[in-house]
Formats: sequence, C-alpha cells, structure tokens
Amino acid sequence: MENLTLPAKLQKVIDFFSQLPGVGPKSSMRYTLLLSNWNEEKLLSFGQSLKELTKLEKCYRCGLFSEGDLCHICQSSYRNQMKVICVVESLSDCLAIERAQQFKGTYHILGGVINPLLGIGPDELQIDKLVGRVLNESIEEVILALNPSVEGDATCSYLKQVLPEGLSVERIGFGVPIGSHLEYLDSMTINKAFENTTIIE
Ligand SMILES: [Zn+2]
Repeated sequence: MENLTLPAKLQKVIDFFSQLPGVGPKSSMRYTLLLSNWNEEKLLSFGQSLKELTKLEKCYRCGLFSEGDLCHICQSSYRNQMKVICVVESLSDCLAIERAQQFKGTYHILGGVINPLLGIGPDELQIDKLVGRVLNESIEEVILALNPSVEGDATCSYLKQVLPEGLSVERIGFGVPIGSHLEYLDSMTINKAFENTTIIE
C-alpha cells in the first residue's frame, strides 16, 4: 500500500478528510473510497452542500448560527428578558449547553480564550463586544462557561476586570478535572455545572 501512488483526484479528498480531528490516514482513505462509489447526482449534491457552508451566516450579536442578522435565541423576547448572558469559548460549547436545556438567557461566543503563547490577546476575542452588550442590554448577570484550563482561568479573571463593577459575574462549577471540555460533557453534568456557579471576586 505504501508504494502505491494514488490518483491525485483521490489524494486531494483524502487530504481534506485528514484535516478533521480524530480522522487518521486509514479512515480518510476509507471515506474517500466510499464516496468514489456514490453516483454523480449524490456527489454533486454533496459538493453543493459543502459550497453552501461558505454562505453560513452568524448572529452579529452573539456569534451563533443565524438565518439573518440575529439568531433565533437573540430574537426571543423570553430569552432576552432574563438579562443573563452565558459566555462560551466556541460554538460547539454553546450547542452543548443548549442541548442541556437549562440555561434560558442569551449567549456570547468569545472565539477562544486568552493565550499569550498562541498570540491570542483580548483584542483577538469578542470581549469589547461583550462589554458593549452588557451595557446596552442592561444585563444583570454574566455566567462564564469557559472550560477549565490555565487560559480559561486567566480569561475569567480578565473578564471580571473589564466588565462593569456591580455586575454579577459567576463561573460554572465543574465536578470534573481540568482539561475537560463542555462539548464532550453529557447534559446532566452540564446542568450540575450551572447549578454550582461560583461568584468571581
Ligand atoms: Zn445571537
């Protein structure tokens, strides 16, 4: 197998699959060969679906998927009246919390955490926008649902400093070790984490 040169058409697709997390060379090859057996209509439809991803819209307020300027959560008067924003690192964390169906306010996707080693400072994240939202939307409470890590901790401290004084800033409590990620937690664990928030001093 090692010495066999694959047609470039196959190799290109294999290389794309290899870029996905958890997909090794063997799986990439298997998926590509399976796709190559699909009929033309199905392949073209798949290609078109991928193309549509370039047009994916995001909510200008929170960063979640949307079919217009605002996502369905930001459009909901019920969720806005809670005056609570849950701050998350990524879209996938937001979806994990939403699956758990406990949090009823709106979200704010930071786009990562402060990480000097990777050159990610506050300006690279949606922090100014968060502060603006807190003021403009008369937010009463901010819940930080950042993953437990050194960078997550540092980001929480930074946010507490830049958010308006007097605002309630809490962080969800994890009954799980450092390094765990929200997107891999089950809904029950996420609900527990929201029940066990701690106030950031
Ligand atoms: Zn939104």
